Amino acid sequence: MLGLMQDWPLLCHKILDHAAVQHGGREIVSRSVEGPIVRTTYAEARTRALKVAQLLEREGFAAGDRIATLAWNTGRHLEAWYGIMGMGGVYHTLNPRLFPEQIAWIMNHAEDAALFVDLTFLPLAEKIVPQVASVRKVIVFTDAAHMPQTSLSNAVSYEEWLAAADGDFAWKQLDEGAACGMCYTSGTTGDPKGVVYSHRSNVLHAMIACMPDAMGISSRDVILPVVPMFHANAWGLAQAAPMIGAKLVMPGGKMDGESIYELLDTEKVTFTAAVPTVWLMLLQYLEQTGRKLPHLKKVVIGGSACPRAMTQKFQQNYDVEVIHAWGMTEMSPLGTLGTMKPEYAALEGDARLDIQQKQGTAPFGVEMKVTDDDNRDQPWDGKTFGRLKVRGPAVAGAYYGGAGADQFDEDGWFDTGDVAHIDPNGYMQITDRAKDVIKSGGEWISTIDLENLAVGHPDVAEAAVIGIAHPKWDERPLLVVVRKEGKEPSKDDLLGFMEGKIAKWWMPDDVVFVDEIPHTATGKIQKTTLRSQFADYRLP
Ligand code: ADP
Repeated sequence: MLGLMQDWPLLCHKILDHAAVQHGGREIVSRSVEGPIVRTTYAEARTRALKVAQLLEREGFAAGDRIATLAWNTGRHLEAWYGIMGMGGVYHTLNPRLFPEQIAWIMNHAEDAALFVDLTFLPLAEKIVPQVASVRKVIVFTDAAHMPQTSLSNAVSYEEWLAAADGDFAWKQLDEGAACGMCYTSGTTGDPKGVVYSHRSNVLHAMIACMPDAMGISSRDVILPVVPMFHANAWGLAQAAPMIGAKLVMPGGKMDGESIYELLDTEKVTFTAAVPTVWLMLLQYLEQTGRKLPHLKKVVIGGSACPRAMTQKFQQNYDVEVIHAWGMTEMSPLGTLGTMKPEYAALEGDARLDIQQKQGTAPFGVEMKVTDDDNRDQPWDGKTFGRLKVRGPAVAGAYYGGAGADQFDEDGWFDTGDVAHIDPNGYMQITDRAKDVIKSGGEWISTIDLENLAVGHPDVAEAAVIGIAHPKWDERPLLVVVRKEGKEPSKDDLLGFMEGKIAKWWMPDDVVFVDEIPHTATGKIQKTTLRSQFADYRLP
């Protein structure tokens, strides 16, 4: 027997419709790429998104076409996304921090039909677009007055283009399973792989994100997604904020401490999210200037492990609650969030920080487990590590074009490539990426634990740990450190600091000091590069 309820497909453009109807006057504030702060509303964003859809269709683009964007978080980028989806198209966010050849590879793989691009990235687009035969149109997110000369023959300024439409367009009626967005993982090993979101997965993911024990956001919040839309949908905020009608503040291209502080302060932001590197810059700025964060209530930190000292500073010095989160592009991206279940809610001080070091617990819609190499489930004892596997309605079931098929099993579990343990209350802690974990004498050493410990030393700016081949133990840890400016800690200082805080056999065999640690396009430590830098390194 089937239920007799209405068939109301979960389509992303319905989110913007809802925002325009119920929260029409709510602002979307952007730091524009041209410079000034620009204000629109959800009602205006919807009108402009309808124009985008109308024009794309008029120019011959059709349902299923991939439409790339190479842009910062701004109101224009957001309305274009909804216009693309409402026409039946598939937004394809490109990460501008990748090498031009990588971007061209990704665009060719996706066969992008058009490109929306920010002024900042026009020179980059001029290099890439001639290598991508499928691109028929380039729309530059600016107005006629700011439109520069360009070698791209098929380029037009966004505002001029929009002016040719009246917005008299009806969103396409689509199956909720239709593709609506695409994002490639950075491909630290092998070629990048395309994740294809559906309308249904994005709508469900946004609902999951809003839940009280996930991000816990509402129409009373003012949300600043510092995490870019090209980094896994701004962690779902591009859909979650309009879904609940929260005021949105978009940071454009400026992510330095002062610029972010200015927006937090002038727009009275209550909720924000980004990777640890962004917050390092903000905290430094606050320390230098003595400024405070009177409006901000919550910050979501993820993408790589949030250092304990960072959580502590936000909470103790600024009274801002930290939610440590883990996720992946393949998970839309939210996987776990470190909000407190009743079992932990009363904890304070160090005991609370211990729990917040973990990546958190899975909301409804995310199933997880850890297995050993023979796919046997491991106990949830908070100690036994294994491969972390996940399942859910907003988790990838395959990659575009069938790449990486070995990461999906017949029961629908996706192997995340992370190594983790889960405690009896369901809190997961990442100990490593499977390819980074150090195998010493048949046992595993977590490089993340060692790095977190090392950055707790007051003279250390950044630390990375890699495995170095060892004749007896297979691999042993090498600690690579960037010192804080003006500080000169020695190898013995650092090892002395770590001693007693970890098992003896986890102690790094050596410490090297460098000026810089390489990072990936999403701001993570690039272990592959580091490993090749130290390929010939001999441990003492
Ligand atoms: P990319 O590597 O391209 O940036 P993702 O953003 O999808 O792609 O990266 C997902 C990976 O980032 C996870 O598999 C995990 O290894 C790491 N990660 C994400 N959040 C955390 C976190 N809070 N702590 C530790 N690692 C994290």
